[in-house]
Amino acid sequence: MDRVVVVGGGVLGTMHAVQARSRGIDVVHLEREAGPRGASVRNFGLIWVSGRAAGPELALAQRARTLWEELAMLVPATGFRAHGSLTVATDDAELGLLKEAADLPDAAERGFELLDVPAAAEINPALRGEFAGALLCRQDAIVEPRRVPGALRDYLIASQPTSGDGYEWLPGREAIEVAPHAVRDHTGSWHRGDLVLLCTGAAYTGIAGPHLAEYERPPVRRVRLQMLETAPLDRRVTTAVADGDSLRYYPAFDLPGRARLAPQPPVAAATAAQLLLVQRLDGSLTIGDTHSYQVPFDFDVDEAPYDHLRAKAEQLLGSQLPPVRRRWAGVYSQTTGPELYHRSQVAPGVMLVTGPGGRGMTCSPAVAEETFATCES
Ligand SMILES: Cc1cc2nc3c(=O)[nH]c(=O)nc-3n(C[C@H](O)[C@H](O)[C@H](O)COP(=O)(O)OP(=O)(O)OC[C@H]3O[C@@H](n4cnc5c(N)ncnc54)[C@H](O)[C@@H]3O)c2cc1C
Repeated sequence: MDRVVVVGGGVLGTMHAVQARSRGIDVVHLEREAGPRGASVRNFGLIWVSGRAAGPELALAQRARTLWEELAMLVPATGFRAHGSLTVATDDAELGLLKEAADLPDAAERGFELLDVPAAAEINPALRGEFAGALLCRQDAIVEPRRVPGALRDYLIASQPTSGDGYEWLPGREAIEVAPHAVRDHTGSWHRGDLVLLCTGAAYTGIAGPHLAEYERPPVRRVRLQMLETAPLDRRVTTAVADGDSLRYYPAFDLPGRARLAPQPPVAAATAAQLLLVQRLDGSLTIGDTHSYQVPFDFDVDEAPYDHLRAKAEQLLGSQLPPVRRRWAGVYSQTTGPELYHRSQVAPGVMLVTGPGGRGMTCSPAVAEETFATCES
């Protein structure tokens, strides 16, 4: 393979460009916006291993984490830091479930350790609130989502060979037509390669649309999340933090103790909310999230789940949050079946890769690696 065309400047498209270049393949990279504005720059930047289902999902996340770490040595601007996470229990039922998780056969692989309150506060002194204990996951890590696509592109451009095309970034080009081994953008230019990769995220009505419409049951669906960012906190939050509600959603915690969890407050249940909290490099806190599956999605953000998430964060931190300085919503593409992500052939030499859902930032380097392994075999 000599030349690949990648459509989509999000993390999935960019990781495919990185994988291609690492194999010496020339890349033309199209993005319809002036810069990526999709899920990849709206997320927490959590490289999240802890809650993955045992087996292929955990293996994919572990492989991806290794690749992120290796990549960070070449591209420190991704902001990768192996800070781990604490999932914090505030009552006995949540603590009981954390104990079950800490006893899983693959607990060591995930870097799980059950901590009492003093031990958790020692690892993360920012947790000054009331809680019952916490599960440390040493494998979890953090990157800076707003910086990652640009940092990876800068790296690809800087490591261009002196001769040959290497890497060509074409923002503001929307791919509108697919042909074998080629796509046409809205300016009329055709881009040809041995392989064309459509990494178009949650855009289901564009070039991926006719292909997705061929399925009897849609293989992917769109999910909308609400997020916020505060002004910088005056102290360091040394790990990512999750609350007990996160135990309801991640498959690793589908253990007997889940049935004993108290019902969520109505606003959290109605929005499938969980608290995830990550400190950015500038000290600000990214806080989320909610989940909405019903289209058409709201075009505005709803304050009620934000009130809930802020109160939860303040309960764990034991102090008031700094003022909120940004709120946004994001939409990701998620498979509807058991596959970890969706990859299919749209036309000869044209593949669609989408649907990693809430694990897309985490798994993107390993998904890209698998794409090339599949296409080269
Ligand atoms: C709020 C939120 C929080 C999340 N948190 C995490 C997290 O902490 N950890 C984690 O692992 N995952 C997380 N995720 C999931 C993760 O962000 C996504 O799975 C991942 O970013 C998907 O990447 P992508 O490149 O496929 O999609 P996108 O980032 O949406 O990129 C697709 C790109 O394709 C472009 N495009 C579409 N059609 C065309 C076309 N025809 N021509 C040219 N360009 C086109 C779009 O403009 C867009 O830039 C989160 C998602 C959201 C929304």
